[in-house]
Amino acid sequence: MSQFKDIITEKCPVCGEGHVFAKKGNPLLFRMPKMEKDCKVCGHKFEIEPGFFYGAMYVSYAVTVAEMVAVFVIAQFFTSDIKIMLCLIAATAFLLSTFNFRLSRMLWMYMFDSRRKETAG
Ligand SMILES: [Zn+2]
Repeated sequence: MSQFKDIITEKCPVCGEGHVFAKKGNPLLFRMPKMEKDCKVCGHKFEIEPGFFYGAMYVSYAVTVAEMVAVFVIAQFFTSDIKIMLCLIAATAFLLSTFNFRLSRMLWMYMFDSRRKETAG
């Protein structure tokens, strides 16, 4: 459960203390999140090899599709107009784009680069 919290709060997968992102980004200002090169607490290099985060695109795809399906299911209760639904889905995908970017990279790192020992609590 603590790893789940560290993913949401964007902490280093090795020490669980350093922040992974220097800037969170803002889709309304067209600003992408900016990652730290390495952990400020333990010195762990986040991009362990060139192109490591290409794989996070697949995670991002899965997360985005899940959100789109969720919006579609919820929107069905309020409208049957397909144009409104498509606009809602597009708006959601746009507004959550930087969140998805950060979440997918965090999930990818915790799947393949989490060297933290499992400890109770
Ligand atoms: Zn660290």
